Amino acid sequence: MQTYDDLVGRVRERGLLESIGSVLGWDERTHMPPCGSAHRAEQMALVARLGHEKLTDPKLKELLADLEASPPMQDAASEPAVNVREIRRLHDRAAKIPPRLVEELARTTTRAQQVWQQARHDNDFTAFQPWLDKVVALKREEAQAVGYRDVPYDALLDEYEPGATTTEVTKVFAELRAELTPLVAAIAASGKCPRRDILERDYPVDRQALFGEAAAAAIGFDFAAGRLDVTAHPFCSGIGPGDCRLTTRYHPRDFRQGFFGILHEAGHGIYEQGLPGAHFGTPLGSAASLGIHESQSRLWENQVGRGRAFWEHFFPRARQVFAAALRDTSLDDFLFAVNDLQPSYIRVEADEATYNLHIILRFELEQALVAGDLQAADVPTAWNEKFHAMFHLMPPDFARGCLQDIHWSMGGIGYFPTYTLGNLYAAQFMDRARADLPGLEDDFRRGDFARLKTWLNDRIHRHGQRFRARDLCQRVTGAAPSHQPLIRYLRGKFGEFYGV
Ligand code: ZN
Repeated sequence: MQTYDDLVGRVRERGLLESIGSVLGWDERTHMPPCGSAHRAEQMALVARLGHEKLTDPKLKELLADLEASPPMQDAASEPAVNVREIRRLHDRAAKIPPRLVEELARTTTRAQQVWQQARHDNDFTAFQPWLDKVVALKREEAQAVGYRDVPYDALLDEYEPGATTTEVTKVFAELRAELTPLVAAIAASGKCPRRDILERDYPVDRQALFGEAAAAAIGFDFAAGRLDVTAHPFCSGIGPGDCRLTTRYHPRDFRQGFFGILHEAGHGIYEQGLPGAHFGTPLGSAASLGIHESQSRLWENQVGRGRAFWEHFFPRARQVFAAALRDTSLDDFLFAVNDLQPSYIRVEADEATYNLHIILRFELEQALVAGDLQAADVPTAWNEKFHAMFHLMPPDFARGCLQDIHWSMGGIGYFPTYTLGNLYAAQFMDRARADLPGLEDDFRRGDFARLKTWLNDRIHRHGQRFRARDLCQRVTGAAPSHQPLIRYLRGKFGEFYGV
């Protein structure tokens, strides 16, 4: 099929440009000298513009229209039909946003990120407020340009979680919150707490790196096709087939940051490495959604990596590697410490239960901003009121309140919900994996994670974007996305530690 091959060739070139951008971005955040940033910004802007041009090219639009009218497309499940469906989605979205708006968003968010960083440092919300105003106004314009069914927020959410709607996310989050709140309250009232000092002892960084890499390799991250480097704000970048970059950061007196950061990013990396390389650059070779991506990182980090069976294997090794820190520590005490549940101000430091409340708060505020019901100037008050109602704590400053996250400054409105969707999917997938693979915990006790990794490769990774997130969840687990598996998992695990 000449037309289809032509289409795929064009989209693959865009994929190559994106992948060039990923190398530049990875280098910028790991090895680039600070003085290189202005030149790097120019390189990245050029690559981004070329990619956007490829996607909005009138010839690509023509090819799509020809293909959509052709007989092979009648089978919606065929590979060409899937690629055409998703390329159409990408093209339409890109074409609907006027170049002027694309440029203005890029310019405004680059500047807004710098202002945000300074404002957070100075604890000065008023400095950031006009920039938040601008970003929200531009994102509202983007939502109008893209179009939506019910509310403008749908158009923004759809960029990160294709097919998800505000209504459906609101419903599942409300159900989650209704059960999470009493659980968190019961734990707070239990009077129990782990020995936190266990994780805040001397953990030499070079040993953390070796131990973390060994764990990432054990769960199935292929270091012949990837690597691990140090950065300030960790991320995983799938450059392309055979090349996936993980990053982390170490704290010499905090075991959690480095180790669980590595497991998290390795989970993303295993997904990237499991995508079909032959389809590189096309939707069939790309991750289903941010929520599904996050489900893979949370599954390894939390469901597996904070579980008893995992540590029955790794704890004896940790005691050898970190002999000074863990000499007098028992497995039970260590396990309780890595599962410390405690309301706190900062999202990225939150435990796996209260984390979701942080997301629900942001999801509600974002919707109000996009709907025009909340003005940027009123964000601190709205944030603190909601935060107090949810956590019974009052943020002492903006850095621990509404200025803590980078997302709004970079225009990432609609991004936050994908984190909690990831937690929901992770619990749901893990339930299914346990049912499909009896004795899985015994595997973990032996340090063997191959059956789980292969199951994820088969059920999720190899499909790329063949199924939208919701359909993939339905297909893998037999059920729509739901709060129940996550709540069951949290109740079971934390119930044991806290006796609630
Ligand atoms: Zn992640």
